[in-house]
Amino acid sequence: MLSGAREGVAWRRSLGGILFPVPPPETGCDGVGVFIVRPGRHGLGVHASRRVSRGASLFQFHGKRISFVEAVAKGEHESYALQIDQNLYVDLDPLGCLVNHSCQPNTGLRSDGWLFALRDIAMGEELRYDYSTTMDEDYWTMPCECGAVRCRRVIRDFVTLPVDVRSKYMQLGAVQAHIVGRYCGSLPSTSDATELKCGSSGFGATNSVG
Ligand SMILES: [Zn+2]
Repeated sequence: MLSGAREGVAWRRSLGGILFPVPPPETGCDGVGVFIVRPGRHGLGVHASRRVSRGASLFQFHGKRISFVEAVAKGEHESYALQIDQNLYVDLDPLGCLVNHSCQPNTGLRSDGWLFALRDIAMGEELRYDYSTTMDEDYWTMPCECGAVRCRRVIRDFVTLPVDVRSKYMQLGAVQAHIVGRYCGSLPSTSDATELKCGSSGFGATNSVG
C-alpha cells in the first residue's frame, strides 16, 4: 500500500482533490487505503488513488443508525441514509456518503458495509455503486443522469430493476441482506443463466453496517 507525504503530494498533483485515508481492509485483496475526494458532475465523488483489481475490498461504510422517519427528515441529504433493514438506516459518514450512484457501477456494497470492486478500476476513476441494491422502501426515488448506456433514468427500489440486473447483483454479493432475505428465491428468473444464488455470498447480519 502506498503511504507517506511524498506519494501524497504526487497524487494530489496528478489527480487533484483531497486525499482521504481510511483503515485498509483486514482481509482485503489489495489493501487499498487511500482515496481521493473531488468535485465532479454530480458533486463530490470518491476516486481511486491507484489501480484496483476486481474483487478488492475498498473501505467500509460507517454511520449512526437511524429510523425511516429520521432518514426522511434529512431532506436534501436523504440519500446519505443507507437502508440496511425495514425501518433501519445508517446515516453515512464520509467516505460512504460521498460515493455516487451509477446504473452500471464499478463497485458493489456488501451487507457488512464493505465497498468492493466489481471490475478492475483505473487510477483516478470515480467509485460508484448502484443505490438500488440497498433500497426496498417503496418511498424514495431520485432522477438519474449517471451517463451509463443502460441508465434507468430514475433510481428506485431493487425490486424494480430488470431481472437480469437483479440476478447479477445477487450473484456478485452486492445486494443488502434485507433485500436478499425478502426476495431471493421469489424473483422471476428468465433463464438458468440468471438463476439466483442465495446465501452463498457471505452476507452478514443486517445490523453489521456501522
Ligand atoms: Zn443512471
